[in-house]
Amino acid sequence: MKMDKTFYLETFGCQMNVVDSERIVDLLGGIGYRQVEQAREAQLLLLNTCAVRDKAVRKAYGHLGRFKPLKDADPSLVIGLGGCVAQQEGEELLREFPYLDLVFGTHNVHRLPELVNEIEVRRGKAAAIDFLDRETRLQLFPNRIGSEAVTRFITVMQGCDNFCSFCVVPIVRGREISRPSIDILGEVRDLAAQGVREITLIGQNVNSFGVGAEGEVDFADLLRQVAAVEGIARIRFTTSHPKDLSDELIACFAGIDKLCKHLHLPVQSGSDSILREMNRGYGRAHYLGLVEKLRKACPEIRLTTDIIVGFPGETEADFNDTMTLLEEVRYAEIYSFLFSPRRGTAAAEFPDDTPAAVKQERFDRMLVVQNAISKQAWAQDVGQVRDVLVEGESKQGKGQLFGRTTWNRIVNFSGPPELVGRVVPVRVTKSYRNSQLGELVKD
Ligand code: SAM
Ligand code: SF4
Repeated sequence: MKMDKTFYLETFGCQMNVVDSERIVDLLGGIGYRQVEQAREAQLLLLNTCAVRDKAVRKAYGHLGRFKPLKDADPSLVIGLGGCVAQQEGEELLREFPYLDLVFGTHNVHRLPELVNEIEVRRGKAAAIDFLDRETRLQLFPNRIGSEAVTRFITVMQGCDNFCSFCVVPIVRGREISRPSIDILGEVRDLAAQGVREITLIGQNVNSFGVGAEGEVDFADLLRQVAAVEGIARIRFTTSHPKDLSDELIACFAGIDKLCKHLHLPVQSGSDSILREMNRGYGRAHYLGLVEKLRKACPEIRLTTDIIVGFPGETEADFNDTMTLLEEVRYAEIYSFLFSPRRGTAAAEFPDDTPAAVKQERFDRMLVVQNAISKQAWAQDVGQVRDVLVEGESKQGKGQLFGRTTWNRIVNFSGPPELVGRVVPVRVTKSYRNSQLGELVKD
């Protein structure tokens, strides 16, 4: 195929969008489009957007605005917006941003070649934002064409049925469906044959994998099957919902060597009443019980979490419950967010009289406490030899490689490029806020 056309793509948001963007690259390659790094070099400009928080939506619109002068200078440019904002706002976006040509929702990524062709021929506008039925979606799970990477995401399920009261995901991604395990294993084997060493199984709630699919294995069985694939050195998964974390899955951290000793287990809040309002389906005691079981099954496991500060009605006492939970669990890392009301979600309608400044002050206070905990957690590695899966040459400069420990921490160290794709022993010499420095241990 002659690749004489060019496209530029920006991706926002979670791993789901990363996988959708990989699919976009494959699909556009199939109609002769080559990806370029600079928007001004492209004939087709695409944004794959996130709607989880208002900040992400504003960022997407900001980046879209940057495309306008390019379109003014060259009206033949085609500009498209896809992903969760496209799904939520739909065709309205075409009216709001007259220089936008194409809107494609989360269930319509596969139609991109057809939509782009249509615009090229007709020079009109196009939108595809309908939700697809279950059978069609099952046929359309992305299967990537090729890979030179060491680590890859594999989608095991799409959508979400949990309806946490703050979350827009069920609205923009639709109902939950699990991909057949036979297809997942097929993709894992293909990727392993191409040199992929680490697989991250992704979905909004991987713990409920297989629910509602007759004769399907559960997630713990799926992990065991993926672990049996030759060539795969490491497995990760995300995201786990605490209400569905089974004892069997917990036991996998002890029983499956290839499973990395890290679990991202979003708690959102340490307060029972806020968790109830969030419709999370578990309380603080249940969550802490899970942490205890995980640490008993696998003492070296490190945990990370998501926290929302400033949920409607959060009192100082509720916030304090979150603070004490952080002290109790001692997460290696937290991803924290100020509550952002999302249209169509239950919590957007909840009364909320806490001033923004109070929420911000709580948020800042929490980060001070957590930063000290994280620093201590990562400092444990200094002086120790850790296995690192080498992912590539580091941004730090010549002769530097980077990889990750089992806890998903980036380690930079000097070594020859032949080590890419191998698990090597590295002595950690320094721990920074977001990465570590190390020295290769030679036999
Ligand atoms: N499925 C995952 C789960 O259940 O934890 C998370 C999906 S969501 C894309 C990632 C994180 O964004 C959530 O865990 C939550 O902390 C945060 N989030 C979602 N909606 C939010 C909102 N309206 N305001 C602030 N943070 C939000
Ligand atoms: Fe959103 Fe809750 Fe589903 Fe996670 S489990 S995607 S937070 S609704």
